[in-house]
This record gives sequence, structure tokens and C-alpha cells, in this order.
Amino acid sequence: VSDEVRELLASRIHDVPDYPKPGVMFKDITPLLADPKAFSVLTDALAGICEARGATKVVGLEARGFILAAPVAVRAGVGFVPVRKAGKLPGATLSQGYDLEYGSAEIEVHAEDLGEGDRVLVIDDVLATGGTAEASLTLIRRAGAGIAGAAVLLELGFLGGRRRLEQALAGAPLEAL
Ligand code: AMP
Repeated sequence: VSDEVRELLASRIHDVPDYPKPGVMFKDITPLLADPKAFSVLTDALAGICEARGATKVVGLEARGFILAAPVAVRAGVGFVPVRKAGKLPGATLSQGYDLEYGSAEIEVHAEDLGEGDRVLVIDDVLATGGTAEASLTLIRRAGAGIAGAAVLLELGFLGGRRRLEQALAGAPLEAL
């Protein structure tokens, strides 16, 4: 994206110190979502990546990934598939567990939403440790689909998420706007 677009997007992300717990700098994207110009520019940029990568589906990661990925799917003319926290999807699911700093988590996808003909772009707002995105990429592969790449609005580089995703991406690009 251009410097102008990057500046517009950055100006609509607010840093909230010590949220949701001390020591965390929370990146709040709600000002960006509330600004129709910024949200539209973001959707265009992500849809451009979707088209450039030849994706047939976008996967959004609960919950803010849903908000970003759904309009991208419409704009790029591809399907939207939610990856949800365990226990939220009613149909036959594939599940993938992963480790958190303290404890573990599990995410799920409807098995029938992804298949062999698909190339999937994973979309989320923030890449932090990469645990959620890594588990999602594993889930997508287990569903038989290919990986077109991953795209996030913002990458917290010091947490090493990009490195953690290397293996799961297997050469597919990770783009941070
Ligand atoms: P991770 O699995 O560590 O990459 O974290 C992924 C999820 O946590 C993403 O879906 C983000 O929305 C959220 N997240 C992690 N750190 C932050 C942060 N500093 N600000 C906002 N969201 C965050």
C-alpha cells in the first residue's frame, strides 16, 4: 500500500495501554471501522491481496478477523469462512488446539466449507504471537485446502509471529499492511 494509505490506517488505530491486562498495549481498530473511508481503503487493500494471490476463499479469525474478512470476500468475489472458538459451529467440524502463554485454546471450522479446490487467504486484525494464525493454517490444510497466504492489518514484530508462521505458510506470503 502507499504511504498515504498506511498513514490513514495507522491514524485510525488507537493504542490502549494495559488492556486487557497490565503490560499489554492493545491495538484498538474500532476507530478505523467507524471511519467509512479508512474501512473501505482497508477492504480494497485486502481484496487486492486476495486477488493477487488467487485465493478462492477468505478465512476470518474470530472475532475481529470476521469484520475485516467479510467485506473482502464480497469485494473480491470469493467465499467467506469463519474459524471460530470451539463449540460455536453447529455442523461437522475440524478442531485444532494450540498453546497460549498460560493454558491452551481450541479453534474449529466447518469441514464442508473448505475443500481440495480451495486456496485460502487467512485474514486477521493483529498478528501477535501467531498462535491463532498458525493453528488456523493447520486447520485449513487438514480440511484439504491450499494456502494462498495470510494478511493482517498490523503485525507486532517483537512477538515473533512471522517466524512462528513460517512452517505453516510453507512459502506462501504473510502481508502486514
Ligand atoms: P496471537 O495468537 O498471539 O497472534 O494473537 C492473536 C489474536 O489476539 C488476534 O486475533 C488479535 O486480534 C488478538 N491480539 C493479540 N494481541 C493484541 C493486541 N496487542 N492488540 C489487539 N489485539 C491483539
